Amino acid sequence: MKVTVDQDRCVGAGMCAMTAGEVFAQHEDDGLVVLRMTEPPEHLTDHVEEAEQLCPSRAITVEPAAP
Ligand code: SF4
Repeated sequence: MKVTVDQDRCVGAGMCAMTAGEVFAQHEDDGLVVLRMTEPPEHLTDHVEEAEQLCPSRAITVEPAAP
């Protein structure tokens, strides 16, 4: 799984950090998303996909890992 975030779309709602804190954090100053890892391990897949769906601004993109 490969994760990318679009800081220009992020509104700092924090759903991602609450849902998958291993992968997403929020910047101290403006609350915008900080990606902690681009290729999370398998056991975090469900949480990352949930974060993608919960993000109100659709700033999170999850793709299958390259073969
Ligand atoms: S849930 Fe979306 S809008 Fe909210 S902080 Fe995360 S990426 Fe940004």
